[in-house]
Amino acid sequence: MKKQQENNQKNQNNNYDESGLKDLFIDELKDIYWAEKHLAKALPKMAKAATSEELRSAIEQHETETENHIKRLEQVFATIGRKASGKKCPAMVGLVEEGKEIMEETEDGSMTRDAGIISAAQKIEHYEIASYGTLRTLANQLGNNEAADLLSQTLEEEKSTDVKLTEIAESFVNESAKTEKA
Ligand code: FE
Ligand code: FE
Repeated sequence: MKKQQENNQKNQNNNYDESGLKDLFIDELKDIYWAEKHLAKALPKMAKAATSEELRSAIEQHETETENHIKRLEQVFATIGRKASGKKCPAMVGLVEEGKEIMEETEDGSMTRDAGIISAAQKIEHYEIASYGTLRTLANQLGNNEAADLLSQTLEEEKSTDVKLTEIAESFVNESAKTEKA
């Protein structure tokens, strides 16, 4: 962010210039690259804590997708001639931490546990959807079609995961949780 501010300072008469946008693009890329890697470490724990097989397998499938998201981001970095690098994303730290709390506060083997995991996972997906949406817009503004295409592919997978989580929640989790204690 510091670099961004310096750059804004430098270009104070032309805030919306291309080099400012490119810096923002790189900052956002580093943020999501770090976030995806952090998430990749957390997902196996969420899968393991799930009660239903349906939720467990959905999370496991997203583990594989997440590995691909990391590889795609490396390809995006390559389109701008950069080696992939991350910058700590406090938002993802907090979202993963909340998921951990939910797992600690709900009973093992309960459907309330699954409802909680789905809630945490959807907050994570929405963060990713926002990030990839912004990144794709920035890539388009910078005329980087290759990056925009890669980012779109990931964006669609994040959206599908969100939809799938909603379907799982609606199909049985919330119904069963009504009759259970937390
Ligand atoms: Fe992802
Ligand atoms: Fe995701």
